[in-house]
Order: sequence, then structure tokens, then C-alpha cells
Amino acid sequence: MSTQREFSATASDLGAMAVAGVGPGQAPESVIHLEKIWKIYQTGDVTLAALRSVSLDIRSGEFVAIMGASGSGKSTLLNILGCLDRPTKGLYTLAGIDVSTYSAAERADVRNQQIGFIFQNFNLLPRTSVWENVEAPMLYAGIRKAERSKRIEDALKTVGIFEKVASLPNQLSGGQQQRVAIARALVNRPSIILADEPTGNLDSHTSEEILAFLQELNQSQGITLVMVTHAIEAAEYASRRIVMKDGEIESDE
Ligand code: ADP
Ligand code: MG
Repeated sequence: MSTQREFSATASDLGAMAVAGVGPGQAPESVIHLEKIWKIYQTGDVTLAALRSVSLDIRSGEFVAIMGASGSGKSTLLNILGCLDRPTKGLYTLAGIDVSTYSAAERADVRNQQIGFIFQNFNLLPRTSVWENVEAPMLYAGIRKAERSKRIEDALKTVGIFEKVASLPNQLSGGQQQRVAIARALVNRPSIILADEPTGNLDSHTSEEILAFLQELNQSQGITLVMVTHAIEAAEYASRRIVMKDGEIESDE
């Protein structure tokens, strides 16, 4: 999916999530609540259940790693959590709001207001400065210029890359690009950050730096973090590890 789509929120419905209550039968601190979620892909005559009745609760402030073999449904699950896609069946409440049946436009709003994304290949806009990359999600959110400037500076200083503010993505190393992507994920003050193989394209030293940074963000700011990873070393930074197998949760500890 393109970065454009990722941030294609409309200005309508802003603030809807801010008044979110907590759904019935749900622990108050449960920010993500999945109940019997199915995702069924139909390609021609072939039907494939990528998620089979997945139920899952994630509390505010958790750092969860999602592991499992290739094809086990990790990205499908993350895309549903991130409202990039919706389940075929089942209930998903995010911060107490049932988003399972939201339209594409409604899901775009939720993403823009609630969720920061970090991807394996950084997904920065090419030929666009670091400053503008980090500014993009705030433009969709309708944040005023002075406030945008302040948040860009804060976020880039937080990730330790403010001196590269005028650079283009292709003038940066992989680790530096991922720092910019993290800054971009932070500026709308999301309650959740979702990361799909965030260190998949980084060397081991840079991976450790990025993972330590994500862990620090989780611990100091209480941001809920859900990270898909193949690497056991990466999963060790999380406080909870979920292993997927054939579209189901095999273990959760
Ligand atoms: P993982 O991220 O764990 O490697 P995925 O969630 O990408 O796994 O995929 C789970 C299963 O769903 C795989 O069998 C994959 O081929 C299938 N799948 C994923 N996306 C689609 C799609 N858009 N259309 C059809 N099948 C898909
Ligand atoms: Mg995947």
C-alpha cells in the first residue's frame, strides 16, 4: 500500500475517537479487542482463510511481538489492527469503538488519529524532504502550521535526526530513514504504533538501536506497540510474544 493511502484521512469525523468510551464486557484498559476475527481471501475459485477466528485483547501500554512462519497471517492481522483492511467476520473494537464495519473513509480517519505505522521499507515519500515527510500526516489531520513546526522539531529531536531535516530520503541510511518514519508515526500523537518487520531491512547493529528506541518509547510514553517480526532477537524487546500458525494464535505469553 502506498504512503499516500496510509495517510489519506479526510478531515470529517475528527475527534470521534477522543470521546470513545469502553465497550460492554471489556476490561477498561483493553485498547484492542478482537473477537472471533476471520479474514477470508477469495481468488478465483480458491478460498483462503488467512485468519481463523482470532480473539485477542491488548492492553494500553503493552509491547507485543507477533511472530510466526511466512504466510501464517501476521501481516493480515496487523492490517486489520491498523484499519488498513477489515475483517470478513468478527468484532474489532479499538479504544472502545466497533470499527469492524467502518467504511474506507472512516477507517482512514481512525488511522490518522489513533495509529502510527512503521514499515520494513520505511515508506517515506521520495523526492520529499524529511521535514515534509514528517509533516504529511498532520496536513491530513488539519493541524495548524505553527503547531506542525513545533511537533516536527520535537519528533525529529526525539529520534535524534533533526540535523537531517532538509535531506531527501535517498540521502539517508536505512537506520536514519527508519528514524524519520518513526518521527512521522509520532506526530499525530497516536495511542498505538504498529510496526511490520521494522528492522527487516537493517543491519544487526542498527536493528538494536531502533528496537531499543521503540522499547524506550513504549516505556517512557506508554504508547502501545504491536510489532510483527521474524527475528527472535527482536521479539525479546517486547513484553509479550504471540506466535501465529495457519491463521490462528498458536501461543501467547
Ligand atoms: P505473513 O505476514 O505471516 O507472512 P500474510 O498475512 O501476508 O502472512 O498472509 C497470510 C495468508 O493469506 C497467506 O497464505 C497469503 O498468501 C494470503 N494472502 C495475503 N494477502 C492476500 C490477498 N490480498 N489475497 C489473497 N491471499 C492473500
Ligand atoms: Mg507479512
